[in-house]
Amino acid sequence: MRREEIKNLLLSFTAEDFFKNVDLHIHSNESDGKMSPYEIVEQAKAQGKKYIAICDHNTIDAYLSTNILREEIVIPSVEFDCFYKGVLIHILGYGIDIDNKEIKSLFATSHNAKTHNFFRLFHLRNPKEVIEKINNAGGVAVLAHPCCCWCFNLDTFVKGLVKMGLEGLETYYPYNGLRGMLKFHSRETVIKVAEQNNLIKTGGTDSHGLNLL
Ligand SMILES: [Zn+2]
Ligand SMILES: [Zn+2]
Repeated sequence: MRREEIKNLLLSFTAEDFFKNVDLHIHSNESDGKMSPYEIVEQAKAQGKKYIAICDHNTIDAYLSTNILREEIVIPSVEFDCFYKGVLIHILGYGIDIDNKEIKSLFATSHNAKTHNFFRLFHLRNPKEVIEKINNAGGVAVLAHPCCCWCFNLDTFVKGLVKMGLEGLETYYPYNGLRGMLKFHSRETVIKVAEQNNLIKTGGTDSHGLNLL
């Protein structure tokens, strides 16, 4: 899929899609999720999902070790741990070319750096490099769960990332568990910031379990 096509596809989704038939944030057992990539795809198809993205931490092994990209509903994706302005953030890359050589240097090589919350702290990337490499790999860079960005002014925070080439905010996200406790901004603020900066609004469940929502 070309970069423009993936952008247009992301732009075509509505808020209702994200709570019904599109889930652009799922973890498989290639990172800290419980289901295999195949099980995720089978369950998503059984539920009638239109599109899904498996976004494992710092890895695209879900795509390299399987042939799930043959399925039309699957968008090849990744979620990188980054450090920006003193804050831990996650950046999602949608529609990346999994054979791109440049982006390979960003992927984790150890199992811990794909799975373990603590060990992933040693695998933090520079957001500028991450966004550039996502873009060069034909993907679209999106800030994950922005309500959890520990900053005073989300608009200023996001503008810095937009200058680096960020194109979207994960707007429709459930904020369950720990993410709910770390929530510093409201969804209304995220929608406002997305609109002020002309950003794509994406969404996903961040499902790690045995059942997709
Ligand atoms: Zn995340
Ligand atoms: Zn995640």
